[in-house]
Amino acid sequence: MAQPRLIVFDMDGTLIDSGAIIAEHMATTFLEHGLAAPTREQSNTVIGLTLDIAMRRLAGCDEPTALALAETYRRHYRAMLAKGDRHEPLYAGAVDALIRLRGMETSLLGIATGKALHGVSRILDLHGLTDHFVTVQTPDHNPSKPHPGMMLRACAETAIDPSRAVMIGDTTFDMELGVAAGAKTIGVTWGYHGRALLEEAGAHIIIDDYADLDAAIEEVLG
Ligand SMILES: [Mg+2]
Repeated sequence: MAQPRLIVFDMDGTLIDSGAIIAEHMATTFLEHGLAAPTREQSNTVIGLTLDIAMRRLAGCDEPTALALAETYRRHYRAMLAKGDRHEPLYAGAVDALIRLRGMETSLLGIATGKALHGVSRILDLHGLTDHFVTVQTPDHNPSKPHPGMMLRACAETAIDPSRAVMIGDTTFDMELGVAAGAKTIGVTWGYHGRALLEEAGAHIIIDDYADLDAAIEEVLG
């Protein structure tokens, strides 16, 4: 029988298309603090990092300011959710891919994300995906990407060696995390960093469509 393998997904820009909503709340937050609103492109560069680190990078500010920005951002995000009229859509093909992969006896699925656990739970619930994942890694109990901690913990929880694991993500942070953990990496171009940056960050394979994911996993893990 084939050896088990661990397939770990990033969320923002990989499973869910959250870029527009994130950019909107970034802009509102920065304006409230008297700062110039970041553009969508600028916002995209930090998606995937833990929120306070994303704020520090985006605003070029000190830690107390970053924490205050993060708090304001969370307030705006919560207000949107409380209204209940908007949510982050899944990318086309994501659900089918998850169902296919979960159905393979030797494949375990996980998540490694910069999103807080309550946000991850809400989104998985919303899309009926909670049961697909056996390990969920968030900044609540891990260092921010690109530190390899999330992948190493996912491997430890599932008793799978990192050499039998793959990180699937849209940003350089995901590729760096995977490489540093000794895992394989698959970059996806439908998210926020693009092919050139993913290549530079050490992606083993890059795909443009969910339809190509199974073959890519076979290629890196067998
Ligand atoms: Mg991402």
